[in-house]
Amino acid sequence: MKISHKFINIDGSEGTRSNSEDFGTVGSRFLKRIVDIVGEDNKKLLEEISDCLNKYNQANYEGADSCLSQIIKANPSIAEELQPFQEICSRVLSCEKNDADRLYEKYLEDLRNWKGKSFIYKLLNRNKKPYPQTGLIENSIKVRCKYCGHYTSYIGPYTGFAYMDGNNCEICGRGYPVPTVYWDNIDGQAYIYYRGSVTEDEFYNDFEKKHDVSPGRDYFMKKK
Ligand SMILES: [Zn+2]
Repeated sequence: MKISHKFINIDGSEGTRSNSEDFGTVGSRFLKRIVDIVGEDNKKLLEEISDCLNKYNQANYEGADSCLSQIIKANPSIAEELQPFQEICSRVLSCEKNDADRLYEKYLEDLRNWKGKSFIYKLLNRNKKPYPQTGLIENSIKVRCKYCGHYTSYIGPYTGFAYMDGNNCEICGRGYPVPTVYWDNIDGQAYIYYRGSVTEDEFYNDFEKKHDVSPGRDYFMKKK
């Protein structure tokens, strides 16, 4: 796809990347393009796409990969918009889990199998607060990093700055490791590209390899 420092807004007007007008609609413009292609009346397909993207947001890479493949195969006209998510799913699924990953999955399995005992547990602990008072509950949830495929602590995709080490994978160190439709679609990636939101060169090289990018990433830096 041809990518430049300009983009087309939902209302058809032209916008400039990596500023507030880009940020506000970066997660919805690709959805608008999909709706324009498949048609608003195609409720069944739009629902399938929405369910599939929800799986992606939940870091359910297996589930998302499988439904993305089906949707892309049946609807090649929207393949370009969905491929960024599928590429990430394939990357994660091709990564071999290590001992720590397997241990965490065992822990999750135990939690799920605990259901039968939870009534008595809740009764015995009815006066306690449901979550530890120190620290955030999200710190104890792990998801597979969209880059290296290993489990890392969940950090909201909109919090912290990766270049200040505030939103990075605990294993590979790359910025914004949690999958999210908002940032992983083509416009979201272009925003990060022109904004320079991440520090690792792999991101910029990958982006340039995948898309026909002009002007390059230093466009806005040169302008300042
Ligand atoms: Zn990682």
